Amino acid sequence: MILQKPVAIVGGGPVGMVLALLLDRLGVETVVFNTEQTTNRRPRGSTHNSRTMEHYRMLGLSSKIRQLGLPLCHPRDVLYLTRLNGYELARISMGSERERQQAAATAGETDQIVEPLLRANQMYLERFLFEQVGMRRGVTLRFGWQVNGLEQSADCVTLRAESDDGHAEQWAAGYVIGCDGGQSFVRRTLGISYSGETAQRSAFMTGRMISAHVRVQGLYASALRGREAWLYNILNPKLRMLLFSLDGKADFLMMMNAAADTSLPENAQLTEYLRVAIGVNVPVTIVGQQIWNGGVALVANSFGRGRIFLAGDSAHLFSPTGGLGMNTGIDDAANLAWKLAASVQGWGGENLLRTYEIERRPVAVRNTVAARSLTHRLGDIGIPNELDDSTEEGVAARINLGGLLQKFTGQFSAPGIELGARYDGSPIILSHDPPPSDDPVNYNPSSVPGGRLPHLWMGPPNPGRCSIFDRLGRGFTLIRIGDIAPSAAAFQAASRTLRMPMEVINLSKVPAFDLYQRRLILVRPDQHIAWRGDAVPDDLQGLLSAVAGCERISKSPSWFDGDSKSVCT
Ligand SMILES: Cc1cc2nc3c(=O)[nH]c(=O)nc-3n(C[C@H](O)[C@H](O)[C@H](O)COP(=O)(O)OP(=O)(O)OC[C@H]3O[C@@H](n4cnc5c(N)ncnc54)[C@H](O)[C@@H]3O)c2cc1C
Repeated sequence: MILQKPVAIVGGGPVGMVLALLLDRLGVETVVFNTEQTTNRRPRGSTHNSRTMEHYRMLGLSSKIRQLGLPLCHPRDVLYLTRLNGYELARISMGSERERQQAAATAGETDQIVEPLLRANQMYLERFLFEQVGMRRGVTLRFGWQVNGLEQSADCVTLRAESDDGHAEQWAAGYVIGCDGGQSFVRRTLGISYSGETAQRSAFMTGRMISAHVRVQGLYASALRGREAWLYNILNPKLRMLLFSLDGKADFLMMMNAAADTSLPENAQLTEYLRVAIGVNVPVTIVGQQIWNGGVALVANSFGRGRIFLAGDSAHLFSPTGGLGMNTGIDDAANLAWKLAASVQGWGGENLLRTYEIERRPVAVRNTVAARSLTHRLGDIGIPNELDDSTEEGVAARINLGGLLQKFTGQFSAPGIELGARYDGSPIILSHDPPPSDDPVNYNPSSVPGGRLPHLWMGPPNPGRCSIFDRLGRGFTLIRIGDIAPSAAAFQAASRTLRMPMEVINLSKVPAFDLYQRRLILVRPDQHIAWRGDAVPDDLQGLLSAVAGCERISKSPSWFDGDSKSVCT
């Protein structure tokens, strides 16, 4: 018997599970295969950036996800020290989760951080997502099943999967998405390779690295008394180590360079390294450890073929500095989900899914390069021999290095990278206007089509207030700004003809016009702007067909708003 689903997802990591949830929200059934029976139990990334948090918000899950990991009042600071009980070199204050939530709740109407960045380890997130996908009737789970065969025809893809206990199944799906990580079976089956950088260049965080989940009882009460932080960055002439707080109690993620051979170090050796880093003799348990390669910036040469697509680590591999790997994967899922839904539901054109690679591959290149350059900045820091000495030279070395480290904030928050991904040049983005400059640090909100819809709060400051993102529809949304904005009737009629879901939002306030600069803004289901203008274009059906990928961009300039700017001045 061949089982069937519109979409099959290979890989139940964070990207695969978020994609399944996004598709479920859009009414598309999926089956998710994952080799292991449970989610990943080893700690990896902890950073969920503002854009990822917006995607969780779209799923109605951001508040619950904010409860995961560290206690709400635990500081998310980054502390540089010579040892945990040694000299403090620098502290980058990042507040607690509670403080960030309060700041977002009371921010001004056009403040762009609707969902502040969150630190909560991926292993907690994956467990939570697994519960969520398990509750969705539209998601069929095959955890403990490995996909080992894949063939596509013009109409569908056939998959073979085998369970832990030797059962085999055959599935047919309209589309298959490989969210199966860096060793992706799907990518290799398609014959797609990565290109980019793998060379080891810096002394730290490149080449072979160890990550270990360690349990150190009583650390907060001993070496860390009064020094609570999210990340302890330990630098001294003997050792460099990162220690991330996982639960604010006894669990930490430890990262350091691995020896050049292939075997994992003995637990006793890791314990010894930890004791050097802590500076006092406390009981240490090594819960688990893994080896990975730091410093890479690799992007798949293609993001799919025919009916099969790649997302997450199968499409790009990052150096973890900057915490961009999973976040870029989740943004892939947001770009792909609505295009799959539109294709399955019949309103997406034949070119729509092709724009996934056109739009996402440049973002993957941009983000992998940014992460690698952050890795080099961190790895290239020189450690003076006298850094941990109680001499005058030691004091001077600490002041010098501390001053340098205090300025090194880009790896912990970079709103420009997080919120500034743009799809300029995509055939389904209709604009002739120059995009804002791509600044990795500062996010420049802009209504020039291609970027994320600039954010607007819809009510007075309070913790439960509504964001414009909460009002956007599951399909396209037309935002009308001001009393003299053209009627939405023509858009609604044309979208009905094309069976394209469309909602309308009317905004009358001054900040909205200042922010959006036009009377009409057409927003895609992934919250990126597809088109803007001040008047209803003559060929409205052509415009909507183009943004839904139904046709190639024609030469007609009537969709572009270049000449209509005078209407609003
Ligand atoms: C030490 C470290 C720190 C990191 N820090 C951050 C951070 O702070 N922020 C961030 O954004 N990213 C971070 N990352 C990167 C992040 O962990 C990955 O980018 C993320 O896990 C990728 O998710 P994914 O779902 O694409 O793939 P994965 O998490 O690798 O999941 C792939 C899944 O596919 C399954 N699978 C594989 N083959 C098959 C098959 N044939 N059939 C069925 N199932 C299959 C696997 O079992 C696995 O569960 C870090 C990574 C490391 C190693």
